Formats: sequence, structure tokens, C-alpha cells
Amino acid sequence: MTIANDRLLRILYEGRPTDKLATAEALHAELAPRLKALPPLADELDGLRLECRALAGQMVAMQLGRLCSRCAARPDGGCCSALMADNTDALQILINLLLDVPVAVHPESGGNCCFLGPTGCPFSAKPIFCLNYNCSHILTGAAPADLAVLYRRAAAVLSRQTRIEALLLDAVRDRVRPAP
Ligand code: SF4
Ligand code: SF4
Repeated sequence: MTIANDRLLRILYEGRPTDKLATAEALHAELAPRLKALPPLADELDGLRLECRALAGQMVAMQLGRLCSRCAARPDGGCCSALMADNTDALQILINLLLDVPVAVHPESGGNCCFLGPTGCPFSAKPIFCLNYNCSHILTGAAPADLAVLYRRAAAVLSRQTRIEALLLDAVRDRVRPAP
């Protein structure tokens, strides 16, 4: 790994959530037109949009929104903690910006993930740990067939995100590599 790569990875994956959001916004402002014109990336983003929609549809079908709201309302409930916000990264946030998903940090979030909004998680492309759907509340209440569809759709989103992240990493690496 070169020094340039070390520096790049630190910029993209380390720091506070506000730093990651600022990095993603700066990259988006600078690179979005170029990135959106790259055919492989544009196709992958279209695919991800559809897969996120399919996953959200399955969550609605399983009434996970209601389940999570009830859970989060309990004093020790919910899993969108401040610690979980550290699993975000600048590329994952950039993917959301490229999908035209508005992303903001909520300064008064207390012990919650600072990205959590009044209507839930704003992200279409989520950090990997937010795509697990394996808490006891879900596992005990859901039909196996529904869970299988949920996991299949979450896996499709995750694998697409991983491919997009690799494409973005190449594009960003070209941008930040120092001139020879
Ligand atoms: S995923 Fe599970 S732990 Fe998290 S809020 Fe929903 S029900 Fe609660
Ligand atoms: S699901 Fe969204 S709001 Fe919840 S911890 Fe993950 S990123 Fe934060």
C-alpha cells in the first residue's frame, strides 16, 4: 500500500461522522457530474436504486418500521446508537448523495446515531452492520419465508454497494493521487 493510499483511506474511513459527511459532500460537489457520466457506475447506481426500493418494500411488508419504532421507544431499545454512526464512511455517504438522498447530521442526537432522522434512517445505501436484520425481535416475529426474502434483498444491496464502492475508490484515488 502506498502512502497516498494510506492517506486516502484515512480521509474516507476515519474521523467523526461530521468529517465523513463533509468529505462526501466535497467529493460529490467536485466529482458528481464526472461520476454520473461513467457508464458502469451509472448502471450500478440505477441497479442499487431498484434493489434499495425492493429491500424497503420487504421491510414494509414485514412491518419492520412499526416493530423498530416500538423497540426504539423503550428506554434501552433500538439499535441506531451513536456508536453505530461510526460505521458510516465517506464513500457510503457519497453513494447516497449520488442517489440524490439528502443526508444531514443531527447535532442534538444524544445517544442515537446522528444520522437518524424523524422518519428513521435516511440512507438508501447503509453501513454493513445496519443491513444485518438479525436482532431477536425480528428473528422471533418473522416468518422464515419473509426472512429469506429480506436477507436475499439485503445481500443484493450490499453486494451492489461493494461494487460501487470499488468504482468510487478508483475514481477518488485518481483525484487525490499527487502529480508525479
Ligand atoms: S432492528 Fe431490532 S433492535 Fe433494532 S430497532 Fe428494530 S427491532 Fe429494535
Ligand atoms: S440504520 Fe441508519 S440511522 Fe440506524 S445506525 Fe445505521 S446509519 Fe444510523
